[in-house]
Amino acid sequence: MACTGCALLCEDVEVQDGEVRHACRIGTAHILNRQQIDPMVDQKVVDIDDAIRHAAAMLADAERPMFLGFGNSITETQSSGVRLAEKICAGIDPCSVHTGLINEIVHSRVRTCTLPEVRDHADVIMFWGADPMNTHPRLLSGYAYYPRGKNRQHGWEEDRTAIAIDVRRSHTASICKSFHKIIPGRDTEFIDGLILALRNKVPKTVYDSKKVLKLAGTLKKAEFGVIFAGSEMLGSVPCDAIIRLMDELNEFSDFRILSLYHQYNLRSIAAATNTDTAVSCERPGGCDPTRLREADCLLCVGFDLANSLPQARDIDASIIVIDPNETLTSGYADVVIPCASGGVDLAGTAMRMDGAEIDLPCIMKNGQTDALTRMSDLNIMDRLLEAV
Ligand code: SF4
Repeated sequence: MACTGCALLCEDVEVQDGEVRHACRIGTAHILNRQQIDPMVDQKVVDIDDAIRHAAAMLADAERPMFLGFGNSITETQSSGVRLAEKICAGIDPCSVHTGLINEIVHSRVRTCTLPEVRDHADVIMFWGADPMNTHPRLLSGYAYYPRGKNRQHGWEEDRTAIAIDVRRSHTASICKSFHKIIPGRDTEFIDGLILALRNKVPKTVYDSKKVLKLAGTLKKAEFGVIFAGSEMLGSVPCDAIIRLMDELNEFSDFRILSLYHQYNLRSIAAATNTDTAVSCERPGGCDPTRLREADCLLCVGFDLANSLPQARDIDASIIVIDPNETLTSGYADVVIPCASGGVDLAGTAMRMDGAEIDLPCIMKNGQTDALTRMSDLNIMDRLLEAV
């Protein structure tokens, strides 16, 4: 079974007698989470069919609808959501700082690799604005640091050099051989300094130039380097700066990059919404409150708008929430439709963070949970598609 607790989609998870095996603490909490909410219209509990009917009417009447999220939905639901968006001329925004880099990766504008390739070949691993020990707990043991791989047979002590670049010394930084502290919002200056250092020039930078030169020396000697780009990095560094750095690193060695995000199927929706079909209409886009204010109806699918963007609380648009669990946004949405959780009580497929297609069988068997009574978000999306 595959865990949908994060984009690693670990495939060895099992549930026996109500006990989750092999999953990390995040995966276990995700699989056992049952904070389900009732279907609601205007915050009053209704029948699920009524909630779907109301949502369909709101979408059909909307002049500037916008869909947000879908990163926590199976691929089949995403496809149905894209068809619905085309039908009513809605924009889709996965609302993640990772979508830009994912698109560069998907379109081969930057070199990437698979997770098994990281395990087999990587000798220098950089965690940039990322703390996988707390966000993707099995990344280090499964692929990035501890395991022996085809060309890395001597173990992490000899074979791998881990480097952390972050605004704070995270748990992950504490196991790395070197740590470089970033001034918040000034990652790009660090990148510029590093590029100069890679060219054997002493960088004039706010950072310690000797340390930057030493880092450049380590990176140049890498046989197979990998950068795991976390949200802290992508929230402050434009994609072109990342591409400049990757181009420079690849002048001297073989460097790859992977985007490290949480939503288990973000890569699939980010790739789908980058095609002309999904966002063919000129509608508001981007999870920026100013642009969201242009929409008159927001459909949040597996996405907690109020949690991700607290400034969005005062948006006038009507809000529909489709989510397996109670969220901050469901606490004030106009329509709430609870749904099954992908991989937990709903089978489907998803794309792992490195692009591998993963089958998601249903983890919870009949009788292990009351959750089998939940309607799938694919079914909900299809009914909306039929009704609008
Ligand atoms: S690392 Fe991610 S996919 Fe793996 S068990 Fe933990 S939460 Fe689930």
